[in-house]
Amino acid sequence: MPLYEYYCEPCNGIFEALRSIRVASEPSPCPVCSREGKRVMPTSFAAFTFRDGYPRRIPDRGTYWHLGKEVKNLITGPVRPNEHPEVNKPEPAPKPAKGDLNAERERRRLERQQKQIEAKEQQAAAAAYEARVKKRPPQLDV
Ligand SMILES: [Zn+2]
Repeated sequence: MPLYEYYCEPCNGIFEALRSIRVASEPSPCPVCSREGKRVMPTSFAAFTFRDGYPRRIPDRGTYWHLGKEVKNLITGPVRPNEHPEVNKPEPAPKPAKGDLNAERERRRLERQQKQIEAKEQQAAAAAYEARVKKRPPQLDV
């Protein structure tokens, strides 16, 4: 029995099936989802197009290929050479040590304290200014 190619639309995949010539043109069940795949000629899918400078198989499902791996987006930001953010997940940020956490907490506490002190000083300065102004005898315009 000859080998024929079929296209499954839901899977967007081509599969081959050994069938007799008599039924070759009839749809064949997809090995993945077992829905009926339509017969395609081998040349039907040799076609490809270029989009954004990348060769795309037709039908185009809007994805790209990065070193043989299918990815959804093109690289936009800076990455390490030959790596793709969807394929090579970025390394997680190093977990801060307990000592670092405590130091950070202490730094923030001191910062808050410093702000409170500054606020109090400003209030005191404003009060002192206010008192000086009140004590001063009224100035006469000449
Ligand atoms: Zn299928």
